Amino acid sequence: MRAVDIIAKKRDGLALTKEEIDFFVQGSVQGTIPDYQISAWLMAIYLRGMTVRETVDLTMAMAYSGEVLNLKDVAPLTVDKHSTGGVGDKTTLVVAPLVASLGLPIAKMSGRGLSFSGGTIDKLESIPGYRVDLSVEEFKKMVKEHGIVVSGQTAQLAPADGIFYALRDVTATVPSIPLIASSVMSKKIAAGTDVLVLDVKVGKGAFMKTIEDAKALAQLMVDIGKSVGKKVAAVIADMNQPLGRMVGNALEVKEAIETLQGRGPKDFVEHCLAVATELIRLSGKARDSRQARSMAEKALGEGEAWEKFLEWIEAQGGSRKVVENPELLPKARYREPLLSPRSGYISELDAMEIGLVTVLLGGGREKKGEPIDYSVGIELEKKIGDYVEKGEPLLYIHANDQARLEQARQRLLGAFAFTEAEPPTPPLIYEVIR
Ligand code: URA
Repeated sequence: MRAVDIIAKKRDGLALTKEEIDFFVQGSVQGTIPDYQISAWLMAIYLRGMTVRETVDLTMAMAYSGEVLNLKDVAPLTVDKHSTGGVGDKTTLVVAPLVASLGLPIAKMSGRGLSFSGGTIDKLESIPGYRVDLSVEEFKKMVKEHGIVVSGQTAQLAPADGIFYALRDVTATVPSIPLIASSVMSKKIAAGTDVLVLDVKVGKGAFMKTIEDAKALAQLMVDIGKSVGKKVAAVIADMNQPLGRMVGNALEVKEAIETLQGRGPKDFVEHCLAVATELIRLSGKARDSRQARSMAEKALGEGEAWEKFLEWIEAQGGSRKVVENPELLPKARYREPLLSPRSGYISELDAMEIGLVTVLLGGGREKKGEPIDYSVGIELEKKIGDYVEKGEPLLYIHANDQARLEQARQRLLGAFAFTEAEPPTPPLIYEVIR
């Protein structure tokens, strides 16, 4: 078999066999297929799509490109949540310790930022000392001793996803249903979790722009999960505007900490509670959604989730002193307001533009493996439905150099639209697929 023939076959819109998919995935991991051929293959899949059978074969080939964990020796049941990527989405930082504090062990493999969307691993790395590169033994030890672990991809777990993910980020091949489904589900299968809640984002700041596409992606992932014996549900969540008020790695860690301390923004708190409720219900820890919701509210409201967060960060090498004093997190040199050009209600706040400007400020990557600036980002003062007076701050830009700050300022005004009449508040969650 030759990589070039497999690329050509997909380029011409034909379905690949299981053997061809296995050959390509294994060659990518073994280094016999170079990055340029992998990139061409990913683009062919992006443009031509894959059948359900091909997507399942790709998912399994990626999951088995490394070790597939069996966590039964460290915890009888483990849970996980995974977002398909959004702007200001720091949900894992709150939901993971929340459910762990209720005795539901969470074993999670997360990703880095992809295009305009942030990544949990980048956010966690803004905490000095936090280790994302755990070995399988260390991953299991965290689950056994602390009931929580969030690590990055390793050479041992789903390495094919690590390779494809980094290339997709810089080759404009992220928003593809088969590529997202196989990326997410291969990690989940490799990490060996039993219960999974998928947080499928839809809207301007998501890879899925329409409810139909988001539902198709959610249903495909739910079906893949069920076919390998997992309990899976998917929440279809709005991502037209950023979640919460902070966008940018260290800024989002700060907002997650405030949320765990009972001072989070309403939309973000509500979203975290919805995801946690599904996890608690699906794992059988609660009789029904109502009981699950009240358990989640209590864990967040009474500080148990915050205590678990501290234990987790410290156990994974992160500085407890920094998370207890978030002003010690990386801080940008400038914090400049963007003033409103007019009075009125905010009717649109383009999440993708906010994400792209965060990348421009240095908070995301333009080339594979590039270092990022944890301190930069956007702090929103106004969101959809808020009234603003002319000259009032719409947001604050956190930047480290004047030129980029000016560029950000120019672009950010275009992210807002205004109306005279109060617009309807957009829903947070459109549907839950069970
Ligand atoms: N999250 C993932 O893990 N993979 C994707 O492709 C998109 C979001």
